[in-house]
Amino acid sequence: QKLRDLLISRITDVPDYPKPGVMFKDITPLLADAGAFTALTDALAALCERYRADKVVGLEARGFILAAPVAVRAGVGFVPVRKAGKLPGATLSQAYELEYGTAEIEIHAEALGVGERVLVIDDVLATGGTAEASLKLIRRAGAQVAGVAVLMELGFLNGRERLESVLDGAPLDALIQV
Ligand code: 5GP
Repeated sequence: QKLRDLLISRITDVPDYPKPGVMFKDITPLLADAGAFTALTDALAALCERYRADKVVGLEARGFILAAPVAVRAGVGFVPVRKAGKLPGATLSQAYELEYGTAEIEIHAEALGVGERVLVIDDVLATGGTAEASLKLIRRAGAQVAGVAVLMELGFLNGRERLESVLDGAPLDALIQV
C-alpha cells in the first residue's frame, strides 16, 4: 500500500491528450523521482524473480524505460518489442486492431530462446491490444510467457478480459489499478 501510494502520487492526469476526451496518465514525474523509480524497478524485478523469468520484454516506448533497469536489477536480458520497421534484423510481426485502423509490432526472430520464460513489461495496460499482440509474438518466437507486469491498469477499458485467453493462465500483475 505504501508503494502503491508513492507510485500513484507521481503519476499525473493530463486531460484531452492525445485527443479530446482521453485522460492520459503521465508517468514522467515518476521517472524523474529517483526514489519512486527505484521502488518501481525493485517491485518489477521481484516479479521477475518470482516468475523465474529468463528475459524481460519491454514494449515501445515507455515499456523500454521500465524494463531495462528491471533486467539489470534481476540479472536477466532485455528484449525490445518495437513498432514495425525499427528493428534491423529478421523479425516476426503481429498486427492488431486500434480504435481506428490497425498497428503492427515486431520482435527479432532470434531474440528469444525456445522455451525461455519471458516477463512482458509495459507502463499502462489500456485496451490490452498491445500486450495481446506482444504475447502472440513471444509464443511465435518459441518462448514461454512467464507473466505480464504493468505499472498501471486502466480497469474500465477491460484489457484484462481481452488478455485472458492469450495469457493462458500466466499471471497479469498491475502495481496500480484504476
Ligand atoms: P492498449 O494497447 O492496452 O490499448 O494501450 C497500451 C499502450 O498504450 C501502452 O503501450 C501504453 O504505453 C499506451 N497508453 C495508453 N494509454 C496510456 C496512458 O493513459 N498513459 C500512458 N503512459 N500510456 C498509455
